[in-house]
Order: sequence, then C-alpha cells, then structure tokens
Amino acid sequence: MYQRLALSPEEDELSSGPCTNPVGMVSCSSKNCRNFESCPNPVTRYLRSKSLTHNLVPRESRIGWGLNSNVDIDCGEIITEYIGEFSSEARDLKYSFKITDTLFLSALVKGNSARFINHACKPNSRAELWSVDGFMRVFIFAERLIPKSTFITLKYGNEYCFQGGCQCDSCYSK
Ligand SMILES: [Zn+2]
Ligand SMILES: [Zn+2]
Repeated sequence: MYQRLALSPEEDELSSGPCTNPVGMVSCSSKNCRNFESCPNPVTRYLRSKSLTHNLVPRESRIGWGLNSNVDIDCGEIITEYIGEFSSEARDLKYSFKITDTLFLSALVKGNSARFINHACKPNSRAELWSVDGFMRVFIFAERLIPKSTFITLKYGNEYCFQGGCQCDSCYSK
C-alpha cells in the first residue's frame, strides 16, 4: 500500500551503482560505502596506502625551501595531506593558506612536509577539503603530471603574494 523509501539490505547489495561519496568529497567507510575495501574513492585509497609519502623531500629552491618528489606523480594523484590547524583567520602568512573566506589552515605549529609546498600563480597541484569520518581534512591533488624533482606548488591565495610582489616562477620571469 505504501511506497517503500529504503531498500532492504539484501536488495541494497544487489544494486551496484557506483559510489557517489567522492562527488561530495566524503571518504568511504563501512558505514557509507558498500564496497569500501575496493572503492576507487581517491582519499580512502590514499589513506590506506600513503604511497607517495616517503618519496617527498624538502629541497632548497630559489625562494627558500620547497617540496619535491623522488618519483613522477600522475595527474589526479593525491600527493599528500596538508596537515595543520584550522582557524577562521590566517594566523601567519608563511605556513597557512586560505580554503574559503572564513577557513584557513595553518601548518606553523602542527604540520607535515606539505608546509614546504610553495605558492605559485599557476600551480601544479590543488587542495581539496574532504570529510573523513566526519572530520575536515585537506588533500593535495596533482593537477597535471609532475615529473620527479619538480617543485610542487599550490595557489595559496592573493594574501600570500608578499611585499615586493609574487616570487613564483611565472611572476619572476616577467
Ligand atoms: Zn565508496
Ligand atoms: Zn606569482
């Protein structure tokens, strides 16, 4: 007489549509994904393998420390997690970047090697804000193939173009 709103568990297992969690930037777990062990969700896979982590190396660049990889990084691959503390304003200009107008991530006190990623106006990676088991976490994705020993760059936001102008490669060569 009434339309059922939810499928029973048995039927749910039979319907095998693709997982939609990545569209909403949500990681997969046994609670929200039927096949989370084999799900192609990039963040879930990254958190399990962290395959690139040991290949990331800070190196001196023209403008101070930067971050390199010892191996090529494929377009779309997660390079690392940007670990830091969230706040509603930029705490420092060197180690924090803007996620939204009211959300900043600072790696000044708590951070990992991602803090060495320099700003570039034409970056080769981008940051995405994901929900992992209900917590906000930021992951750095390669925007294109990044050959090994290339500096990884991110767009930090206009606030980080320092006095004297931006020193990134595309601005410096002008
Ligand atoms: Zn999934
Ligand atoms: Zn620039």
